Amino acid sequence: IKRIGVLTSGGDAPGMNAAIRAVTRVALNSGIEVFGIYDGYRGMVDGHIEPLTRKEVGEVIDRGGTVLGSARLPEFKDPSVREKAVEQLKKRGIEAVVVIGGDGSYRGALALTEMGINCIGLPGTIDNDITSTDYTIGFDTALHTVVEAVDKLRDTSSSHHRCSVVEVMGNRCGDLTLWAGIACGAEIVVTAQTGFDEEEVLERLRELDLVRKKRHAIVLISEKITDVHQFARKITQTTGFSGRATILGHIQRGGSPTPSDRVLASRMGEKAVDLLMQGIGGRCVCIQQNEIVDVAIEEALSVPRESRKQLYNLFERLV
Ligand code: ATP
Repeated sequence: IKRIGVLTSGGDAPGMNAAIRAVTRVALNSGIEVFGIYDGYRGMVDGHIEPLTRKEVGEVIDRGGTVLGSARLPEFKDPSVREKAVEQLKKRGIEAVVVIGGDGSYRGALALTEMGINCIGLPGTIDNDITSTDYTIGFDTALHTVVEAVDKLRDTSSSHHRCSVVEVMGNRCGDLTLWAGIACGAEIVVTAQTGFDEEEVLERLRELDLVRKKRHAIVLISEKITDVHQFARKITQTTGFSGRATILGHIQRGGSPTPSDRVLASRMGEKAVDLLMQGIGGRCVCIQQNEIVDVAIEEALSVPRESRKQLYNLFERLV
């Protein structure tokens, strides 16, 4: 293999740059030319593709976001649109591509592989919602960001007998909320897995106030579950706490990647290049029990989400 491409797609995540750097450096050091494909599949279709040098991926390992840009291109599901992308790659002699993104990006990578361009997926998302890997690139950094923010909210909450309701990202995956709940010592976590019984949560808050005499309470709720502002008003109306909602939003996507995310991205980037050098495509890189492994993309997309029951139990035992 002589030439490969690399792109970032879907929502950006801290550590994507470390992955781009790893792919580029490992490939160049193996005598393979590397092309950056800008703005995900959009740049592939439009031909926004430029060679990457060792220097160009210098000084990016500590930067959040993605220097290649990311985009969503729903039309990529259309085979005729993908044909254009394949033509653009072939024109430049690019034989294979590393796709850094979430499950949607993986579907695109699989479709391209079926069209003769070997692709390897790397899990770049803060959501930790790719079930085949223990951790995704960006999750650890986002967790740090959430914990830092919630720690600050706790300082001010306890001064005012307040209940902070914090909406945490994670798409339909509650990992960011659960991990942050444990790390911050939150009083209540609500995720897709716990379900949301509003009256039950309000009752628990009344108990924390009246029986446990808590000066403050932190409730972490995964996004897309309820309107946290409305819920905070109900807390004010029906419990002894004054409810305040905070939506952390895109702050969770930013920031310099943590050392763990940088190392994970580097290990995964290396694996992707090694697979492509062996002529392998249609697979994605995972970390399982601290080993870097690869699994078929079809399989990665169909692995059921591992239950976090033990961690939820731990959370309850810590309250
Ligand atoms: P995130 O987890 O941040 O949402 P993602 O990779 O899942 O990341 P999507 O918007 O679902 O984000 O997918 C990114 C891009 O992948 C889409 O805009 C589209 O270009 C491509 N894509 C998604 N699904 C398919 C599919 N079934 N076939 C081909 N391409 C797809």
